[in-house]
Amino acid sequence: MELLKEKIRTEGIVLSEQVLKVDAFLNHQIDPRLMQQIGHAFAERFRDQGITKIVTIEASGIAPAVMAGLELGVPVIFARKYQSLTLRENLYISKVFSFTKQTESTIAISAKHLHANDHVLVIDDFLANGHAAKALLDLIGQAGASVAGLGIVIEKSFQEGRSLLENEGYRVESLARVKSLKDGKVTFVD
Ligand code: 5GP
Repeated sequence: MELLKEKIRTEGIVLSEQVLKVDAFLNHQIDPRLMQQIGHAFAERFRDQGITKIVTIEASGIAPAVMAGLELGVPVIFARKYQSLTLRENLYISKVFSFTKQTESTIAISAKHLHANDHVLVIDDFLANGHAAKALLDLIGQAGASVAGLGIVIEKSFQEGRSLLENEGYRVESLARVKSLKDGKVTFVD
């Protein structure tokens, strides 16, 4: 997606060889028009797949997921940090190691929103080592739902997330594939 790559080139900040900061348009301040186009791009890739729900993780996955949900006409569920949920609820629960915080947290989805007959598109802002994606797939598996694939806004192709997911048979669609963050510069796969 050319517009997204241009945004990353002009407004992205390379924090290290591993971490890209995009808080000017994705992670903190949000560019709604760009987000609308991101939603459209995901919908184009998954429109014929019979998707019934989109699943993402709070907080940065919500904006692109909602835009994709709007385009596809399906509800969006975001996995919540466990502590913020009412304990009495019937929950699907998983653990996720946060790449940016380097801590483990527990995430959950209420069983009342996700069912065995759902066909799910997973969306997230970044794909690094695939921990967030795996935790979301775990929650979806607990519900007995099936997975159409994963839509990722920014994939860091030098990390192992994509190969991990593809080895398990999942379709991964990324709108921008970062090849390297070396020398303070972003280069793309294509
Ligand atoms: P993974 O679980 O695939 O290792 O990392 C993906 C998660 O970590 C995403 O949900 C995203 O929030 C965060 N993340 C991973 N890499 C980056 C990065 O380079 N920049 C930012 N801002 N977040 C990242």
